[in-house]
Amino acid sequence: MTGIETRLLIDGKFTDALSCRTFSTESPIDGCKIADVACAGPEDVDRAAVAARKAFDAAPWRKLMPSERGRVLRKIADGIRGRLDAIAEVETRNGGKTIANSKNEVEAAAGVFDYYSGAMDKFFGETIPMGHGVLDFTFREPVGVVAQITPWNFPFLAAAWKVAPALATGCTVILKPASYTPLTALMLGRIALDAGVPEGVLNVLPGPGAKLGEHIGRHPLIDKIAFTGETRTGAGLIKAAADGIKRVSLELGGKSPNIIFADSDIAKAAAAAVKGGFGNAGQSCSARTRVFVERPVHDEFVTAFSQATSRYKVGDPLDPATDMGPLVSDAQWRNVKAMVEDGSAAGAHIVCGGDRPAGLTAGSYFAPTIMTDVRNDMRIAREEVFGPVVVVVPFDSEEEVVRLANDSEYGLNGSIWTRDIGRALRVARDVRTGMISINSHGSSSRYGTYAPFGGYRKSGLGRELGMYALSLYTEVKNVFIDLGD
Ligand code: NDP
Repeated sequence: MTGIETRLLIDGKFTDALSCRTFSTESPIDGCKIADVACAGPEDVDRAAVAARKAFDAAPWRKLMPSERGRVLRKIADGIRGRLDAIAEVETRNGGKTIANSKNEVEAAAGVFDYYSGAMDKFFGETIPMGHGVLDFTFREPVGVVAQITPWNFPFLAAAWKVAPALATGCTVILKPASYTPLTALMLGRIALDAGVPEGVLNVLPGPGAKLGEHIGRHPLIDKIAFTGETRTGAGLIKAAADGIKRVSLELGGKSPNIIFADSDIAKAAAAAVKGGFGNAGQSCSARTRVFVERPVHDEFVTAFSQATSRYKVGDPLDPATDMGPLVSDAQWRNVKAMVEDGSAAGAHIVCGGDRPAGLTAGSYFAPTIMTDVRNDMRIAREEVFGPVVVVVPFDSEEEVVRLANDSEYGLNGSIWTRDIGRALRVARDVRTGMISINSHGSSSRYGTYAPFGGYRKSGLGRELGMYALSLYTEVKNVFIDLGD
């Protein structure tokens, strides 16, 4: 691909890494190289941190009127829409997601910038009554220099979720995209510069997280870390950030339950289970990967689910008719295959899938896989597979399914299918997840930016999106005034 930016963005300029090192980024569609990308080292993190600190302290950005920052964010949204097709194509070639999904996600990313462009003049402090002789109030201040580390499964959208609220509050940013998918974050950097984001305010540093993470976590010039990725990586970042008491927010993994009661619309629930489990090739933290089905409709549901799955079209993600492309890499393919084999060895039955789809000999394609005869204590039911693998577990009562759903280290998302509104709300309340959908496989984030997104327990810390995200990037200052009465 020609004309795409492959260098680091530091202090308003695209630049090679100080070491001059690069790494190659490939397409999972055919394994071919797309580009050599500048590979940031710790010394480049230092450069970016100095630039971001200088930009924060000199305040060309944070001292703008909120509405002026908002105008720049709106220009970023326009810039994204102006390059929507180009960004979506890079996203699909680099990460393997379908072109329809990529286009939706790029449009959604523009919507995130739209949302936060109008948010900051509606996010303010409070006056606290303390008696006649004093006045007490709070205001919100940007937290400072923020390092944002993003994953490969939603590269552009995840960057927008983090960058837009951080910029809105007046923070300065160092964005480190995942190494499998570094390109669209650099495109975002270019769009932000063109929109008028001052130099040093947004820096983009592709490079190996395993080498840079500790350095970022301990860096004295960085005030906060916002991370999306694996739970173990997030835990490591908390440790690295501990001595500096840095602010940390985390969006981590999930093993989300999809609860089907016997009174639900089985055909609708089965069709939704396909998208809920296999959307983005299952590489989604919100994927509904544990399907609990009330025993009387278990077999009927499994039949309907596997029939709907057989119509899910796996193939070239650049073809608009495709429902599911390849996994992000061969390494991910092998992880998924190993998990399926582990489940099989433990006694699970593969209803469909379990391997490469027939006819797709090149690329990291994995067929949508349904497994039954699964117990909730098997690894396949407990660990995040991050591929198109869904397990089905029967249950006999509301109490039992709540216990099974909560018997997980994670607590991100989930679905409940029933026509009984009382039961739906009881279960929604009792399941320990940050989000839950009723008679839907979707999350609130599918409809935009407005509602909070994040998890309980090992699924994360803090909430992205909506006005909640602004709390992640601000400190509260309290002002007390003696009125000298
Ligand atoms: P990783 O945790 O491996 O990587 C995520 C990011 O962290 C990448 O940019 C990666 O860089 C970087 N990274 C890797 N090692 C370190 C380290 N030691 N310190 C700091 N950063 C590091 O996760 P994946 O990219 O494999 O993403 C998949 C995981 O993310 C899944 O578990 C999924 O559930 C979770 N996820 C959660 C979401 C949520 O909102 N809750 C959303 C999306 C994904 P590099 O690429 O260079 O290794």
